[in-house]
Parts: sequence; C-alpha cells; structure tokens
Amino acid sequence: MPKDEKQAELIKKGICPACGRLLAHLESCIECPNCGWSGCEEA
Ligand SMILES: [Zn+2]
Repeated sequence: MPKDEKQAELIKKGICPACGRLLAHLESCIECPNCGWSGCEEA
C-alpha cells in the first residue's frame, strides 16, 4: 500500500499517522495533541 494511502486511512480512522494517538478535529482540520501533527481535509 502506498504511504500516502496508508496515511489517509489512518486519518480517516482518527489516528495520527506520525505517532498513532487519537487526533482532535478542529473544524475542517485535524491536529494531534500528542505530537503536534496537523492536516486539513482537501475539499
Ligand atoms: Zn501524533
């Protein structure tokens, strides 16, 4: 599985692709309170 695809699947499950902790949803963006990873969903 391509790396981007695996990352997208983790994000879909609400899991940080960097550290594996749960992500917090901020409006249309997501952020990991544990490691600071963040991303925004592309429209
Ligand atoms: Zn993280």
